[in-house]
Amino acid sequence: MAQVAVQIHPIKAFSDNYIWAICPSDSNLMWVVDPGQSEPVIEFATAAEKQLAGVLVTHYHWDHTDGIAPLRAHYGELAVYGPHNTPFNGITHPLHDGDRVTIAGLDFAIIHTPGHTLDHICYLTPKLAFTGDTLFSAGCGRLFEGSPQQMWRSLQRLSQLPAQCQIYCTHEYTQANLAFAAAVEPENKDITQWQQWGEQQRAQAQPTLPTTIARELSINPFMRANLPHMLNTLPVDMQTEGSENWQRFAALRQWKDNF
Ligand SMILES: [Zn+2]
Repeated sequence: MAQVAVQIHPIKAFSDNYIWAICPSDSNLMWVVDPGQSEPVIEFATAAEKQLAGVLVTHYHWDHTDGIAPLRAHYGELAVYGPHNTPFNGITHPLHDGDRVTIAGLDFAIIHTPGHTLDHICYLTPKLAFTGDTLFSAGCGRLFEGSPQQMWRSLQRLSQLPAQCQIYCTHEYTQANLAFAAAVEPENKDITQWQQWGEQQRAQAQPTLPTTIARELSINPFMRANLPHMLNTLPVDMQTEGSENWQRFAALRQWKDNF
């Protein structure tokens, strides 16, 4: 089935969240991803003359879900897609790893990506993906619930997406992430280049997102933990001879937590 053309708009929430609005070009309907707040969504929909049709949830954290109840109060019944095993109790369309679901005219493949939380899912098409708090530009989510092995595997699954797939994550953390990436790989010129571009974007109050899989594979230390030279970039006390990729990933994540 041919996919409907869509536009994806960032709606700013809190200090550094984006609620992504999915707007198909063939209707006045819209869907939003991870609405932690309702007011900016209602404001955007009103100004754009869009009717909110549904919500996509990546995981249960309050800054991704607190807007859903007030949006339901405002718009009436909404389809709320989300993980089947989530502690959040507002899901109407529970999703499992391997599910395929058409939302807003897009055919999404659902993958379970535990690590940041145990319920986290991502919504993938070959052209665009919503990765919540799993994959950020130049970074990844903190491991609040999952193990380093789980998060490494989740990121490896995302790395299989087509190189030009556009990645829409929830947070504008890119510049802070790139500062860490530059500390890990001072010789990596792609990191310097995207740092400069990011500074220009932020100076004009523009998002640094979406990113692409190709870009992340060149700048994101957490996507690059399997590269042989990454072992030498770790602080000496974190270098483990013959370590597994996930162990290298775990050491990078621990380093970033204290960066
Ligand atoms: Zn989160």
